[in-house]
Amino acid sequence: MTQTPTRTDFDQYMVPNYAPQKAIPVRGEGSRLWDQEGKEYIDFAGGIAVNSLGHCHPVLVNALKEQADKLWHLSNVYTNEPALKLARSLVERTFADKVYLCSSGGEANEAALKLARRWAHDTHGEHKHRIVSFTQSFHGRTFFTVSVGGQPKYSQGFGPVPGGIVHGEFNNLDSVRDLIDGDTCAVMVEPMQGEGGIIPADPAFLQGLRELCDQHDALLVFDEVQTGVGRSGSLYAYMDYGITPDILTSAKSLGGGFPVGAMLTTDRIAPAMGIGTHGSTYGGNALASAVALAAIEHIDTPEVLEGVKRRHDLFREHLEAINRKHGVFQEIRGMGLLVGAEMSPAYQGRAKDILPLAIDEGVMALVAGPSVLRMAPSLVIPEADIAEGMARLERAIARMVAAQ
Ligand SMILES: *Cc1c(COP(=O)(O)O)cnc(C)c1O
Repeated sequence: MTQTPTRTDFDQYMVPNYAPQKAIPVRGEGSRLWDQEGKEYIDFAGGIAVNSLGHCHPVLVNALKEQADKLWHLSNVYTNEPALKLARSLVERTFADKVYLCSSGGEANEAALKLARRWAHDTHGEHKHRIVSFTQSFHGRTFFTVSVGGQPKYSQGFGPVPGGIVHGEFNNLDSVRDLIDGDTCAVMVEPMQGEGGIIPADPAFLQGLRELCDQHDALLVFDEVQTGVGRSGSLYAYMDYGITPDILTSAKSLGGGFPVGAMLTTDRIAPAMGIGTHGSTYGGNALASAVALAAIEHIDTPEVLEGVKRRHDLFREHLEAINRKHGVFQEIRGMGLLVGAEMSPAYQGRAKDILPLAIDEGVMALVAGPSVLRMAPSLVIPEADIAEGMARLERAIARMVAAQ
C-alpha cells in the first residue's frame, strides 16, 4: 500500500455519498492549495466556512503541536485545561453563561434541540415539546437535525421522522404566528441561511421571533454553525442584529479545520442538562479545545473582524465587476465573508456548472442550492489572493457564458 492514492480509489473504497472533484489537494498554505500534480488553487471555499484562518495558520499549528506533546484525550470522566479555557473564553465573549462542547455542528444542534425539549419538559411538562423551524433551513445530518431542517430531501427514505416539528417560512413572521403556542419549546433559526442560499434574516423577523418566544416561554435557538466565529464580521451574527438567543450553536470556523462544536446557553436553561442527560466521548477533547481557543482568540480582535468587513466589500466589488461584463448574477448578497451570488434568470439552476470550470482555472468556490454561487474563504485571505482568485473566477464564468 505504498502507491499514491488516486481519485478512482474514492469510488472503489468509499461509500458513494459524495462526488468529490477530480483534483486531490495535498498541501495548503494560507488561501492557496496545491494538488497531487502541483497545480495551485486559490481557496474561496474555505472547507465550507471551516478554514477560518486559511490552511496551516501558524497560530493554529502551534496550538495543535504544543497540545499534541502534552495531552490528547481524557474522556469526560475528567476535565482538562484546554476545554476549561475554551468554555471560559466563549462565556466571556458572548451572552452565554454555560457551554457544552462536542465535535461538529450537527452534534451541537442535536444537543441544543435535546436541551430545549428537556428544559421545557422539566419546567412546563410533556406537552411543551413542539419545535418550530423554517423551510430551506439546514441544521446538520443527524436524524433529529435533518428532521428539524427544512429540506425534506435529507430526511426522506429513512423511516418515520420524529414528531412535534413544524416549519414556517423564513423571513415571514406571519407564518410563525400560526405555528407557535404554549406547546412550543423552541424556535431554531439560522440568522443567515447558509445551505439554503445565503439569505440574511430581516432584523424585524428575528426581533419578532424573539418576542414570540418570550410571549410563549419558548427558547430561541440560533444556529450559528456557519455564520459564527467572525464569519459575519462580528464574533457571532447575533451581535450584528442585536438580538440575543437563549441557545446558540457554533462549529465550522470555531476549529479552523479541527473538528469541534459548541452549544452555548444561559444559567436559566443549562440546569436541564443535568448529570447523565447527554454526552459525547470526544466533547471537550484537549486537542480540539486547544485549537479552538487559539482560533477564537485570534479571530475576536478588531484587526481580524474589521478585515472581514473590508474583504466583504472587495468580494462584492469584484463580483459586481464580473457581472457588469457577463450578466450572470441577479443579486450579490451575504454578510462578512459568507457571500452569495444568485444566478440571473437565464442561468437559474446552473451555479454548479461554474465549479469545475473554476477548478480548471485554479480557484475553488461553492454553491448554496442550485442557483447561488457561494464563497466562504479564510477570514484573513490576502487581498492579492482575492484579486487573483477573482481573475480566475472571471475566466471560468466567461467560459460558461461562451459555451452557451
Ligand atoms: C454545516 C452546518 C451544520 C452541520 O454541521 P456539521 O459539522 O456538518 O455537522 C449545521 N448547521 C448549519 C447552519 C451548517 O451550516
